[in-house]
Amino acid sequence: TKTRKLLVRVAALGSQKILILAEDSAASRRLEKTRQDFTANVSHELKTPVGAISLLSETIADHADNPEVVSKFALKLNAEAHRLSVLIGDIIELTRLQAPDALAKPQLLNLNELAAEVVQSEEWSANQSETQLLFQPAQSEVRIWGDRHMLKTALRNLIENAIRYSPPRTSVGIKVNLVDGRAQVAVVDQGIGIPKDEQERIFERFYRVDAGRSRAAGGTGLGLSIVKHVVQNHGGSVKLWSNPEQGSTFTIILPEAEVGSGSDLKQGRYF
Ligand code: ADP
Repeated sequence: TKTRKLLVRVAALGSQKILILAEDSAASRRLEKTRQDFTANVSHELKTPVGAISLLSETIADHADNPEVVSKFALKLNAEAHRLSVLIGDIIELTRLQAPDALAKPQLLNLNELAAEVVQSEEWSANQSETQLLFQPAQSEVRIWGDRHMLKTALRNLIENAIRYSPPRTSVGIKVNLVDGRAQVAVVDQGIGIPKDEQERIFERFYRVDAGRSRAAGGTGLGLSIVKHVVQNHGGSVKLWSNPEQGSTFTIILPEAEVGSGSDLKQGRYF
């Protein structure tokens, strides 16, 4: 019986191993499919500005003797080159964020201060769209562990979206809070809102509710995907509330840093 028991255990272990192997290969197939989809999407997205640049430069060459046409199309060419450069920048950012060691050196950060810096850097673009930015820091200091550049990028993306998808002469609120040991920064707009059935999909790469509107406003379709990865890397989450008539609120929620908890973080307590 001893031998039988042993054989049964070995068989059980064997089937477990097969199950694990099957799960592993299903996961790697999914990963491979995601990679292929991303490459196909990137190629498609790159084709639009590259095609426009090619057409515009041909037009300029054909009208070299007409300074008016040259200057008009040179400006358009410049805008397309800018769009291409923003898109490439976002692709690089997203690729970096997906590296396993993306958050290698977290620092102790002051969320009020970090949010104030981002709000200040967005004042110019808000002014251009006649949008008012209303910043409301938390009353007490809010400390988090994280990467300054990544968190600023995520918050900037949310503020730029709030401006992009809101009519002029509305306001965008940026509110920092500390609720039950969770650091929060909310971006509240009075814009076009997001239909309920689209709310999950907008965090996917290149997914847009209205692709024409997003492109015309300078969107790459990667902003929220970047936000999602930044927040995941910090062991946090993003909450969305939105109603097509009332606007949207995106809230980034992060673990609050405890005093002297730097080593806890490195030991994986928050991740
Ligand atoms: P994009 O560059 O197109 O803005 P994002 O990934 O940042 O890409 O957002 C994906 C889509 O989600 C946008 O195209 C838009 O349809 C929708 N969206 C994002 N933020 C907002 C917002 N504040 N209000 C309304 N719609 C939004």
